Amino acid sequence: MSGPPLNPPLPNSDSTPTTQIPNILKTLYFLSIELGRIQDLDDMLYQVIVRGRQDLGIDRMGIFLISEDGQDYQGIYGTNKDGIVHDARALRGKIANDSFFSALFNTTDRVAYRLDAPLYDGHEQVGVGWNTLTSMWHGDQIFGIFAADNLLNGTPLTSLMLEVLNLYGAMLGHLIARLRTEQALRINEENSRRFGENLRHLHEVTMQLSLLDDPADLYRQAIILGRTRLGFDRMGLFLMDKTTKEIVGTFGTDPKGEISDLRDYRLPISQHAGVAEMLESRKYAEIWPDVTLYEAGVPVGTGWNAIAILWDGDESIGWLACDSLIRGDAFTPQTLELLTLYGTTLGHLITRRRAEITRSEMVLEREKLQMMGTFVANISHDLKTPLSVLRNSLYLIDHSVDTVKNKQRMGVMQLQIDHLDHLIQDLLLISRLEYSLTLETTEVNLNHLFERAIQDILPSIEGKRLHLDVQLDPQLPPVRGAEQELYRAILNLIENAVNYTPSDGTIKVRCYADVDTVHIEVSDTGIGISGQDIKHIFDRYYRAETARATVHTGTGLGLSIVKRVVELHQGEIAVNSQIGEGTTFQILLPCAAVANF
Ligand code: ADP
Repeated sequence: MSGPPLNPPLPNSDSTPTTQIPNILKTLYFLSIELGRIQDLDDMLYQVIVRGRQDLGIDRMGIFLISEDGQDYQGIYGTNKDGIVHDARALRGKIANDSFFSALFNTTDRVAYRLDAPLYDGHEQVGVGWNTLTSMWHGDQIFGIFAADNLLNGTPLTSLMLEVLNLYGAMLGHLIARLRTEQALRINEENSRRFGENLRHLHEVTMQLSLLDDPADLYRQAIILGRTRLGFDRMGLFLMDKTTKEIVGTFGTDPKGEISDLRDYRLPISQHAGVAEMLESRKYAEIWPDVTLYEAGVPVGTGWNAIAILWDGDESIGWLACDSLIRGDAFTPQTLELLTLYGTTLGHLITRRRAEITRSEMVLEREKLQMMGTFVANISHDLKTPLSVLRNSLYLIDHSVDTVKNKQRMGVMQLQIDHLDHLIQDLLLISRLEYSLTLETTEVNLNHLFERAIQDILPSIEGKRLHLDVQLDPQLPPVRGAEQELYRAILNLIENAVNYTPSDGTIKVRCYADVDTVHIEVSDTGIGISGQDIKHIFDRYYRAETARATVHTGTGLGLSIVKRVVELHQGEIAVNSQIGEGTTFQILLPCAAVANF
């Protein structure tokens, strides 16, 4: 070791008055009580220096903490050449590179000292005198060192001062170790409290997510609630595509903390080495402490990254990723535990939602088949009736010479042909409307369509002696639409009103406009529709029992045509009805000036 010798014998002039020792012990005792009251480690270390100098007469003091592996030192507070206590965190280095520090570590004494040594303020030498290093122990580990010298008062080193330093070091060792344990306990307690709170939040989040029907909403909210309610930093949810063996994004968080749509993101699972390994060993969650962090495949920073696999029994359906990009929070075991629980919860929710969707698709398919069966039965009946009337009439005309009767028979035939024509028109129209997403449109004046429809249906209205009340606004603005289809919709509504209203009833037709909407109303004083039936009247082939008893020739297609036509015109349809009192259909269509299709 270079420099002045370590722990040389003190000059003979050292005559320690042993009578002072009880006083010093008393001072140390009270000091330990006062320092022991300080809760914050940093505050305490500051006071260690201030009070060490003030109460124990130590000249200049500095305090250092040692890293857990015992390799590095770091200054905390020191005293500068003017005697001012200051922050010394910039002073740090390897113990192995400092001969004085190394010497303390290599001796069994708790204090190392040198006489006539260079004295420093930071890295600048500011004098010569004695200096000491005293170790602070916990168990058999040195976790801190404090340095002292005589730069300011120049008094010689005495064995009493060495004893004071030794005792102060031992006392501080205990105090600091205790404070650190208390702090660690507090952090643990705080963490478990937060974890308990998060478990409660997890329950609430699960309840909220389980109410969402649409899978995309579920994925999106899983990220939003994961961040806002469960306290995760950046999150992303990825699902497995088993057929292509790819991972597919759903929603994530961009580097600014906004929700990001990752539904276009796809990557073969094999390219995710870490995850592939987790799947292989059936792990639930894993953390990578110090890695590059990505946003949709592009590096955006570094930090920790954790992944929880979403398992459905033995199969993985995806994973939940979480990292520290935005807040840079330190990683805690609780984070991984909560992520694992959240991953399991989401796994269950997503699997359940998928099963429900498959089930309701099956139910829908079955309902469609049932409706189809009913339709085929109805339609063949509807076709058979007019056909047999036609066949009979033809037979009778063929075998009769009674021209008057034959003329009547031909009238009956004409009616049946009209009915067949209507039925076939409806069928063709509904299949055409089913497959068109948009229509060929022009500007249409609905007043003309109403006038035409009323004209066409007038014989039936007169035949049933119905009262007709027509209120058309002559200033009605045009709508943008498909004329033929709109005519069909209007005709169907008026036809229904006529069909389902007994003789002497009233049919009212209104058409008017407000700012940008045309309103159509067709109402009657007919048989009405029950609450049960009203839910289904727009379904194809649906006919209420009361309707079947009243009108034998209906197809159950009219209103589904009306509804589809209104939809294709970006309009709305509503119905209001009272059994035995009547029914009102109301349609809203955008005026041509505002229609955007
Ligand atoms: P339909 O050919 O049977 O009239 P729609 O699709 O036009 O078929 O109507 C479906 C059902 O809605 C009808 O069968 C009837 O039960 C009911 N409905 C429609 N319009 C009226 C109305 N104005 N009054 C009473 N019931 C109606």
